[in-house]
Amino acid sequence: MPEFSSHKIELIIECFTAKNGAEGKKMGKALIIGCGGVASVTIHKCCQNSEVFSEICIASRTIEKCDALKEKLGGGKTKITTAKVDADNTGELINLINSVRPDAVVHLALPYQDLAIMEACLATRTHYIDTANYEPRDEAKFEYKLQWAYREKFKAAGITALLGCGFDPGVTGVFSAHALKHQFDEINFIDILDCNGGDHGYPFATNFNPEINIREVTAKGSYWENGGWVETEPMEIKRRYDFDGVGEKDMYLLHHEELESLAKNIPGIKRIRFFMTFGQSYLTHLKCLQNVGMTSITPIDFEGRQIIPIQFLKAVLPDPASLGPRTVGKTNIGCIFRGVKDGREKKYYVYNVCDHQDCYREVGSQAISYTTGVPAMIGAMLVINGKWRKPGVYNVEEFDPDPFMEALNIWGLPWTECFDPALVE
Ligand code: NDP
Repeated sequence: MPEFSSHKIELIIECFTAKNGAEGKKMGKALIIGCGGVASVTIHKCCQNSEVFSEICIASRTIEKCDALKEKLGGGKTKITTAKVDADNTGELINLINSVRPDAVVHLALPYQDLAIMEACLATRTHYIDTANYEPRDEAKFEYKLQWAYREKFKAAGITALLGCGFDPGVTGVFSAHALKHQFDEINFIDILDCNGGDHGYPFATNFNPEINIREVTAKGSYWENGGWVETEPMEIKRRYDFDGVGEKDMYLLHHEELESLAKNIPGIKRIRFFMTFGQSYLTHLKCLQNVGMTSITPIDFEGRQIIPIQFLKAVLPDPASLGPRTVGKTNIGCIFRGVKDGREKKYYVYNVCDHQDCYREVGSQAISYTTGVPAMIGAMLVINGKWRKPGVYNVEEFDPDPFMEALNIWGLPWTECFDPALVE
């Protein structure tokens, strides 16, 4: 990751806006909903990018967190306001959007709120960006179906919904669109590899919202093959891979959001899999917590009131936003593609390596929040400046990848290409 002295930031912004002409200079106002680990990074990045984000409003359930960030980052070129909002309440959201009048709403709260916020965007004709697909609270299941169902309504309202604009999903979709545009005539196989080689020193902690993270990794795995889903038991499929910048790690096949959209949007695809690395301590703790019922989402009676075990567990685990100062090591997230170019078989690997401590020095967060928060800012920028604006509901791979790939290099997530990668068996 490049070093971000303020002088260098000003220089790269100048280059970026010069290259992108008047359109790149369009200024705008974003309403950012949520003020946790990911939102904090996006907000830092919006403030670095005041050429586009002349104003932001930070709105969340706990307004004190929004005010603390305003206190830290206010006084720069980006004007910051704050508000309290319950993002489960569409009426409250509509009132907030009507009073802020943003160009786009960037939803960085939790996946439970996707539909309420999309409804509010529809009612106020405001562009929408998120990083995670809708999940009902009472069922650990995520799919795009309910968000895609808004496509015609968003089209008719003339507004854009950009879904899943973090790293994975997000950059992994942009990498796929980039590979298809510049490297292949047809892509047949994609393996998405998400490696976190970081160490926060705790025996057990999650790098993003614990409730969402544990629901994801305790679910059954699945991958897309020959036009259908193949389901696996949780953590059933294990592989080992030697990651650039990190070294050898065990990784496990999971179901992941972008498999669903890429299976639909990459023509000629035969198989897509997603692997994530986990250390032994994490897996042992998780197994034990599962065995004693602490990861359950079914409410139980406790001292005369109903509690949900996984929400109680979240309350006792370290806040992911607090892991920044103690996390050392690197992440490496990318995609290995196999397909055909000019009649010949070809392989191609594109990935980003991100250093936890570099992120902490720059924005006070660890690399998981950083690698999600930066793409969210880039997606919002491209919607606001019009480069990624088309009425309807879309996943990132449905847009031109070039301005996004360029912005990744500028805003702290440079990518590396490899034309002869080791393949995953
Ligand atoms: P955090 O738990 O750190 O932050 C969530 C924020 O949302 C908190 O500020 C919380 O408020 C706020 N919030 C929750 N419920 C409401 C509500 N009803 N109304 C208003 N605000 C609410 O989560 P992260 O920052 O780690 O994750 C944010 C999102 O990013 C999640 O959806 C996650 O799934 C997604 N993500 C996506 C990734 C990707 O690569 N695509 C990777 C990692 C995360 P409070 O402060 O009061 O708790």
